[in-house]
Amino acid sequence: MKGIFPIDKFRQLRTPFYYYDTKVLRDTLSAVRSVMDKQQNYVVHYAVKANANPKLLSIISGYGLGADCVSGGEIRAALQAGFPAGKIVFAGVGKADWEIALGLDCGIFCFNVESVPELEVIDKIAADKGKVARVAFRINPDVGAHTHAHITTGLAENKFGISMHDMDKVIDMARGLKHVQFEGLHFHIGSQILDMGDFTALCNRVNELQDKLEARGVRVAHINVGGGLGIDYSHPNRQPVPDFQAYFATYRNALKLRQWQTLHFEPGRSIVGQCGSLIAQVLYVKQGAEKQFAILDAGFTELIRPAFYQAYHKIENITSDAPLQTYDVVGPICESSDVFGKAVDLNAAKRGDLVALRSAGAYGEAMASGYNCRELPKGYLSDELI
Ligand SMILES: *Cc1c(COP(=O)(O)O)cnc(C)c1O
Repeated sequence: MKGIFPIDKFRQLRTPFYYYDTKVLRDTLSAVRSVMDKQQNYVVHYAVKANANPKLLSIISGYGLGADCVSGGEIRAALQAGFPAGKIVFAGVGKADWEIALGLDCGIFCFNVESVPELEVIDKIAADKGKVARVAFRINPDVGAHTHAHITTGLAENKFGISMHDMDKVIDMARGLKHVQFEGLHFHIGSQILDMGDFTALCNRVNELQDKLEARGVRVAHINVGGGLGIDYSHPNRQPVPDFQAYFATYRNALKLRQWQTLHFEPGRSIVGQCGSLIAQVLYVKQGAEKQFAILDAGFTELIRPAFYQAYHKIENITSDAPLQTYDVVGPICESSDVFGKAVDLNAAKRGDLVALRSAGAYGEAMASGYNCRELPKGYLSDELI
C-alpha cells in the first residue's frame, strides 16, 4: 500500500473504476451536518447530478440532507436512496411533462421554475391532477463567478433562469394561477467557486431584490442560493473537507435573511469531489518524437472533465516510487481531446502500474459514457474493500 490506497485490493479489480474513500465523505458530511445543527433555518440539498452512485446517495441521505434534482431519473434515484420527497427540489431549464408529473405525484418540496412557459405547463399538469405545485423562481442574478466560462450560470448571457427584470411579472403571474403556489427565489451562479467574494456578490443582489419585493408587499418564504463551492484540485490531501465554515459564514454575514425565512443550499462538488479517485492502469508507455506518453485504460468515457472543461486532476502513479519522469497522460479513446494531462510528472511508469486521478468524485462517474462501446465504470467504496 502506497499512501491512502489499498493497492492489493485494487489488483483484484478490473480497471478502470472509481474508488470512494468513505471516511473523507463522512468527514465532509459531518462538517455540513454540524452547521445545519446550529442553523436550524438552513436546509442543505445535495446536488445529485454531481454523483448519483446509489451507495453514495444512501450515505448522504443518512446525514439528513435533502436532494437537488435536475431530472425525473434523479428524483427516482434520490427517493430510492432514502431522501424524503419533502426535501427534494427540482431544477432544470427543460423539465419534460412526465418529469413534472412525477414531481407532483411524489409530492416534492419545490419546483425551481426557469421560464414563464414552464410555469404555465406546471400549473396545467397540477390542475389535471387536482394538485397545487410549490414553485420557486430561478432568477438570473447577473453575477459573474470567477471560474471556467463553461461553468458560470448566473450571467445574463447564460441560458439559465428568469431575468431579474421579469421577476415581478412572473411572481404576479404565479399569484394569479390556481395550481401553483409561490414559495421562494432560487439562484445558482456557477461551480468550482473559491472566491467567497462571488457569493457575497450574490448575497448583495438577493438583498436588493428582497427589498424591492417587500416594497411591493411580496413575502418570500424560501431563499435558495444554489451550490458552487469549489474544492482544491491541486492538493487533494491538504484539506479534503472544503471550508464549509467560511462558506456558510459568508451567507450568514452578507445575506439579510428574514427571521421567518429558510435558506436553502445545493452543494454538489464540495460534498463528493474529494472522496473519489478514478483508478486506471498504465497500458503502454510510448516514446514519441518529443515526449513520452503514458497510455491508460481509462479515457474521457470515464472522466470527461479534462476534455470538456480543461479541468485539472492531480495524477499519481500509486504503484511506483521510481524517480519522476514527465509524461502526457492520455486515454485510449479515438479522439485527440482524450488527454488527462500534458507534461505531468509521475513516478516512472511501466505497463501494469496503477494510476489515480484524484478529486474525481464529482462529475466523474456521473458523466461517464459508453462511447466506443465501452462499459460504464463501476464505483467501489473503501468500506467494501476491507
Ligand atoms: C449543478 C448545480 C448545483 C451544484 O453545483 P456544485 O458546483 O456542484 O455545488 C446546484 N444547483 C443547481 C441548480 C445546479 O445546476
